[in-house]
Amino acid sequence: MYAVRRFVVRHSRAFEWIYETFEPVLVVLDPVWSKFGYNRLERPVAIAEHAIKGFLFDCQMCGQCVLSSTGMSCPMNCPKNLRNGPCGGVRENGNCEVKPWMKCVWVDAWDGASRMKGGDKISTVQPPVDRSLEGSSSWLRVARERAAEKRASRDADRQAMAEAFPEARAEEPAAAPLAPEPPNAQPMQEADESTTVMSTEKT
Ligand code: SF4
Repeated sequence: MYAVRRFVVRHSRAFEWIYETFEPVLVVLDPVWSKFGYNRLERPVAIAEHAIKGFLFDCQMCGQCVLSSTGMSCPMNCPKNLRNGPCGGVRENGNCEVKPWMKCVWVDAWDGASRMKGGDKISTVQPPVDRSLEGSSSWLRVARERAAEKRASRDADRQAMAEAFPEARAEEPAAAPLAPEPPNAQPMQEADESTTVMSTEKT
């Protein structure tokens, strides 16, 4: 919805904060998504995502969301689907040359980005849109990719520690020497035998 989309751009900082809070939750839930199966969840989550983001951003479900880099203005609403800035046809009043009633999504993007903490991400060059991802859930993709990045970084840290302290690996608990026995300790079998003899003598 156009009016809501423009409202979001005017309040881009608040929506940036909401997303920054929401994304870690998605990532933390990776074990849950994995347990259910990402493929099985794809359809229901994509439907929910489309309903929410369609209302707020006029989301076109490109499957590779860049809202946090475009001032919360969805670039897929540009009639030319430009993901890296406006074409040369922006009107003097800042409206689109193809849809004269509509503010250019990139004029809105710069406006929204100027209010955001991470607004300078707008200068990051976006890769061309991958049409094979259309209709898929960006939320699940983010959860899966960030979780995989975290696992890879944990593995790299472990590897670095193992290389920095190789002797720590040489003394794994299974290979560590046993602690010396106390001087008056008896082997278990002997102790059992002496107990039996004592009880026999008593009878
Ligand atoms: S960038 Fe893609 S996923 Fe994000 S709101 Fe626009 S169409 Fe939807």
